Formats: sequence, structure tokens, C-alpha cells
Amino acid sequence: MNGLPEKKMSEDAQNVNLFTGTKRKENDIPYGYCKCGCCQKTTISPKSCRFHGYIKGKPRDFIQGHHARLQPKGENSHKWLGGVSSNGHNRIIIYNPSHPKATSEGYVLRYILIAEKAMGKILERKHQVHHFNGITDDDRNSNLVVCESNAYHFLLHQRQRAYQDCGNPHYIKCNYCKKYDDPSNLNGHHVHSECNKKYQKAYSRPRRLMAAKSKEKLRLKRIEIKKFVVGLHNNGLTTRDIADKLNMGNATISRILNGKGAWKVDPETLEARAKEEAF
Ligand SMILES: [Zn+2]
Ligand SMILES: [Zn+2]
Ligand SMILES: [Zn+2]
Repeated sequence: MNGLPEKKMSEDAQNVNLFTGTKRKENDIPYGYCKCGCCQKTTISPKSCRFHGYIKGKPRDFIQGHHARLQPKGENSHKWLGGVSSNGHNRIIIYNPSHPKATSEGYVLRYILIAEKAMGKILERKHQVHHFNGITDDDRNSNLVVCESNAYHFLLHQRQRAYQDCGNPHYIKCNYCKKYDDPSNLNGHHVHSECNKKYQKAYSRPRRLMAAKSKEKLRLKRIEIKKFVVGLHNNGLTTRDIADKLNMGNATISRILNGKGAWKVDPETLEARAKEEAF
């Protein structure tokens, strides 16, 4: 129509539904749905973008992240480095897409593969692998410890830290003074009873008292303001006059007079209660 030849989709990965494995035609996916074949509606673009190919007010081609599903994987990927790479956290990963723990790119952590080979079975999801010397890309057999759970792995790290810091792996750190001590000297929250007393005296109790005092101050201020406004109102002034006089909003004055929201304070009952407490 415009002189250009019609585009034809090649019969490669782009034409295969990733979930069913069947080949699909170009027109199978309706307008406004994700082109990866996941059958979900895409969002509407709030602005045009030449780089991404968005048009303002029209649905996007893909849900965010689904574009990568149509990209060639494994050896055909432009990032292919021979099947060995790093995951960005100093851990080495190996291409093994048939493994149950493989990521969407088909990579598995190398130390998991080595531990499974040594154990002779596939590790469960709750199992974790610990590096004895702390170097996470040192995956020699002698450096790996298979932990039965996350809790056991945490315990190993805690004992290692204690051994490095104070020379005794049984010791625990006090949460307040940050010093290692025998667990029998600490309470259930891993705190010295003396440290706990100091903390309560220095921070916790004053803060609670301060909060209570400021609340009480606010309430007393509100009572004074309310008394003043009600007195003016009883002298025959309208709400507008009072608002002009006090340089306040008309709505706040009416709220004070009607006792709504925070202005629900009742001066008489509060005074009576204060007298009762005093006697
Ligand atoms: Zn999709
Ligand atoms: Zn570890
Ligand atoms: Zn302490």
C-alpha cells in the first residue's frame, strides 16, 4: 500500500507460545494484549516515547518485563559467555535450564550444583549452603556446609562472628551495650538486666512522660481557647465577628462552638475531674 514490502514473521522463537509450545499466527493475539502470549491486557501509555515505541493513549505491546520472554536464550543470547557467569553478588552461576532451581534465564548457583553432586540428591528449597571461609565464590567441596534450614545457617554465622570478635563461639552480643557475654548473664531479649534498666531510665520513660505532658498541654490550651470563644459568643458576637477578631477561619470558630473533632473538650467536666484528683 505504501510501497514497502509486507513484514513477515520468521518461524523462530517469536512464533511459538512459550507456555503451550504450539506455533501461533501473528493475528492470534488481539489488540491491547501482551504479545508474549500470556493473555493479559497491557497498560495504556500516558505519554509517547520514540525509544520504547509507545504512543500516548494507546496500549503498550508488552507487560513490563515480558519483552524478554521473546528474546533468544542460552547460546543464542547476545550476552552468552560460555554458560558461566556471575549473579552480581559475588556468586558464580552456571547455565542449566533443566534444573528445578533454574532462574528464568536458565542459570543455577554453582555451589548448589556441587553440593548436590556430593550429596547424590537434589537439595530441597529449605536447605541452604554455607561457605566456611566466608568467600562466596570459593566453591571447593571442603569449603561448603549444607544447612538443614535458614535458622541453622544463621546460627553458624552468629557463632562465627562471636568467635572472630571475642574468641568464644558460645557468647552472645548484648543488644544495648554491644558487648559479648555468657548467655546466662543475659535475659531472653539478649540484653543485660543492668543495660535494660539504664535504657529504660535514659530513653523510654522520659519519652513516654514527654508525650503525655504535651498531650495534656494541648488539651489545656484547647480548653482556654474554647472558654474565650464561648464567652465572646455569649456577649452577642456572631461567628464571623469572632473569626475577624481572632484572625481565624469561620469554619474553625463554628467547629469550636459546636465541639466537633478535637474541640470536643468539655471545660466543666475536665475541671471537675482535676479537682477530684487533687483531693
Ligand atoms: Zn506477557
Ligand atoms: Zn553462610
Ligand atoms: Zn549490655
